[in-house]
Amino acid sequence: MKILIVEDEKRLADSIRDLLASKGFAAEAVYDGETGAAYGELDVYDLIILDVMLPGMDGRLVARRLRERRCGTPILMLTARSGLEDRIEGLDAGADYYLAKPFDTRELLACVNALLRRQGGQVDELRCGNTALDLSAGILRCGEAQIRLSAKEFGVMRQLMQAGERHVSKELLLERVWGFESNAVENHVEVYVGFLRKKLRSIGSDVRIEAVRRLGYHLEADG
Ligand code: CA
Repeated sequence: MKILIVEDEKRLADSIRDLLASKGFAAEAVYDGETGAAYGELDVYDLIILDVMLPGMDGRLVARRLRERRCGTPILMLTARSGLEDRIEGLDAGADYYLAKPFDTRELLACVNALLRRQGGQVDELRCGNTALDLSAGILRCGEAQIRLSAKEFGVMRQLMQAGERHVSKELLLERVWGFESNAVENHVEVYVGFLRKKLRSIGSDVRIEAVRRLGYHLEADG
């Protein structure tokens, strides 16, 4: 589980990172909103811990930006203020939960675990055009027709559907579907995109995987 911490108080950020690392999470800390938004948009995190009071781009703006770019990563917002208005504003901006400072480390861990558990059951289907990707069964569906995807096909399709109209580069697909450690190369991505195109056609999907040189892939629906 990868967790991003966005907090300008460096000591607090680092102590949260170390706490989470000691519980087996892969945690990274960044210390300003712009960097937080840029990292968050990579969509490689399972959870973002986001401070509200940040110089420059504050936590609410970061949350809003991430949601606008269709990043669905759960956000746990931290704030020194715990007024009702602040909480509502934070939730409106796209945060999933609000934790007021100072907090107990056990309380933080409980929130983190609850949000990560919830994420598992949050979305069960992604849609594009006339086609749905069933996230729990790994099946592509179009009307009555359906086809099962292999693990890698599913990983690639999921990234493309989550991205909507944005391009997804081959490098990013390699990183997210094959992982940093694997020996897979861009050619592997092309092969799996080929498999997916065949499967989409076989169920009568109106979704096409378009390739744009240097940018990568994006989905287009004819319907
Ligand atoms: Ca702060």
